[in-house]
Formats: sequence, structure tokens, C-alpha cells
Amino acid sequence: MKILVINAGSSSIKFKLVEQQDLSTIVAGIIECIGTPDCKISCHIYKAGEINAKQEEAHLLSSYREGFELLIKYLFKRPFIKDPGHLAAIGHRVVHGGEQFKQSALITEPVIEAIKKNIPLAPIHNPVSLTGINVFLEMFPEIPQVAIFDTAFHQTMPAKAFRYPLPEQLYTEYRIRRYGFHGTSHQYAANCAAELLCKPLSKLNLITLHLGNGASAAAIKSGRSIDTSMGLTPLEGLMMGARSGDIDPAIIFYMTHFSGYGYEKIERLLNQESGLLGVCGSNDLREIERLIKQGDERAILAIDMYCYRIKKYIGAYFAILGGLDGLVFTAGVGENSSIVRLQVCQGLEHFGICINPEKNSEEINSATEIQSDSSTVKILVIPADEELEIARQTLACLHNG
Ligand code: ADP
Repeated sequence: MKILVINAGSSSIKFKLVEQQDLSTIVAGIIECIGTPDCKISCHIYKAGEINAKQEEAHLLSSYREGFELLIKYLFKRPFIKDPGHLAAIGHRVVHGGEQFKQSALITEPVIEAIKKNIPLAPIHNPVSLTGINVFLEMFPEIPQVAIFDTAFHQTMPAKAFRYPLPEQLYTEYRIRRYGFHGTSHQYAANCAAELLCKPLSKLNLITLHLGNGASAAAIKSGRSIDTSMGLTPLEGLMMGARSGDIDPAIIFYMTHFSGYGYEKIERLLNQESGLLGVCGSNDLREIERLIKQGDERAILAIDMYCYRIKKYIGAYFAILGGLDGLVFTAGVGENSSIVRLQVCQGLEHFGICINPEKNSEEINSATEIQSDSSTVKILVIPADEELEIARQTLACLHNG
């Protein structure tokens, strides 16, 4: 039996088909640029845990519905799945579960209604997930589907962490509170850290840093998220590839007053033209590292700001956790940028966070410890695998009924 994982984003549908027995990958891929002439499906086909072949096909698709239909055709054509009866379940990443979902949920009519209800909180992502769920429901009503929410892991945050200091009505009427995102990734990184450290997660205090294009930090006490840097939307918190992260909200009023920019323009500016991109002109750490080697001052400043802001969150989370066992780096930047890891950790020795520069600069392809012998806090690099965590949770949900 097989499990299909669907991770539908704002412009793409990522998928992974795994064996139910050991969660090994059969095929993984992405349908991207939907609605544009560049639309294509690209896949890696696996054999014994290794990529055995690559495939790419151009397709003209005008909607996500067509994207999901193409995916189904693709999976049954080769066939990666011989018969719908061989598909044990489909796990969907759903960005926003609001306050209703504290864990993954088997998809039923009320769950679909709840995902719909959360559309105002994730107007781009939740409708795409619903389209995927509906297409599979129409074609294979007998196959169980599971929703894995980005927000669920952070539902353990206490009110003092999730409430904004705003009038209560904004919370009760408009549901304005901090939700946090990247939950599946933080949860996966925390589980891997526990495995690597040979301790139960419930006995660990961790700070996990998901540093990809989007970036967020989480404070995990005794295995539960007690705070995270993203808020009502994924704009709050750390400086990111192209998102600003924390800023004085009055900048928005100031801009509308003095620049004449409308809200849409400012929204775009903060979400797509800020962060590393806004400060130095690139949001790709590989390019920024190249510019730093050439002495480019804007690139140096951008990385200084990026790491300084991460450091401030580590300090804050160190204070609220009351003891730290591990600092975890994950996602594209966290896994690959030794410069960022070094700069983040330098100066945190008084917290017991001491990085080993040699271990840090080695190429890292699997979960690895990079602290020095004198470090009381373990420093871990854990390659992100949200799809694997989605498959695990899908399976767990299936077993729980
Ligand atoms: P997302 O899933 O949020 O789109 P990823 O986790 O894939 O992002 O991270 C993408 C980012 O990781 C890239 O924009 C780039 O900055 C960084 N990155 C990827 N590979 C490397 C590398 N080899 N060295 C440094 N940074 C890298």
C-alpha cells in the first residue's frame, strides 16, 4: 500500500508517493508555474532510496483543478499506482487550521467546512488545498484523506504568547491572534533532534530555526511549542528571503501618509520586496555568500541583520524556556549556509552555545551535531522533510481512526 503526500502552495503542487510500510519514496515531484506558459511537471523517480531517473513534461494548465487531475493521470499512467485500492491514504498539507485543529484530522464534511471557515486567514493557500481535497474526493471517494495543518503544532502556545496586546474584540470577533506556521517542519526537526540525542522529545527543550525562503523560530518546551516567531500571518518574526519580518507597524501608516502608496503596494513591498532581497538585492544565500566574499557591503549588512535578528529570538526563547538542550537549524539556509550558522552562534557562548567551526563547515547531508565539546547545548543541523512528516502523520491519523 502507498501514501500520497500533497503540498500545494501559492504557485505549485508538490507531491510525494511513499510506501506505507517504511515510508520510502517511490516518486516525488512538483507541478509549477500553473497558469503560465512555463507550466511543467518535474519528477524524481526513486529506486532503493536513491534517485534513479528524472522526468520533466511541459503542460498548459489553467487552474489548480487541472493540476491535480494531471497529477492523478501521471501517477496512474506509468503506473506508480496500479489500482486506487493500493492507495492507503492521501495526506494534504493545509496552511491554516485556525484554533479548531490542534493536530492532523481525517477529512470529513465538518473538517472541510472548518478549512473553508479559515479561508480569510489564508486566502491563497486554503482554497488550493480544498480544490485538491475535492478532486480526490470526487475521483476516489473511498480513499481516506488527512489534513495536516501548518498551524496545529503551535496550538499549544499559551494565551500570553498567542494574544496580541490589542482590544479583546479583535480576538473574539476577528480571530486576530498569533497562530504560527511551519508547524510540520518544526515538529519534524524536533522529532529528529530527539532521535539523534536519544532522548524522548517530552524531556527536551529546543529552539528550532526553520530558515528557508520563509523563516521562523520556535521555542519547544518538553516537546511542545510554547512560542513561535510568525503570527497571524507568515509576515511576522524573523527577517526572511523577501519578507520583512518584525517592523514597527506604524511604518505602514507613515508610508500611506508620506509616500502615497496604497495598502496593496505596501503589502507587496513587505511580503515580496523586503528581507534579504530588499536590503541587498538578492534573497538567495548562495548569491549573497558570493557577494560577501567580494566584500559587497550591502550583502554583509543583509547577513548581519539576518543573523542579529535570529540571535535576538534565541535570547528571548532562552529566557522563556528555562534551560535549553538543543538549537536546531533546518530548511534551505539552515541546512546549507555554514556562514549563517556560524554568525548566529558566535557570541552565544555565555548561553552554553558553542559551535565547532570545523564540523560546521563540513558538507552536511543528514542530521548532524556541530557543537564543540565544551558546549552544554547541542547544535544540530537537520535536513527538512515536511513531506515525510506529513506521511507519518497521515499514517498515524489512519491508525487512530
Ligand atoms: P522554501 O521551501 O521556503 O522555498 P527552502 O527551504 O528550499 O525554501 O530554502 C531556499 C533557500 O535556501 C534559498 O533561497 C537559498 O537562500 C538557500 N539555499 C539553498 N541551497 C543553499 C546552499 N547550498 N547554500 C546556501 N544557501 C542555500
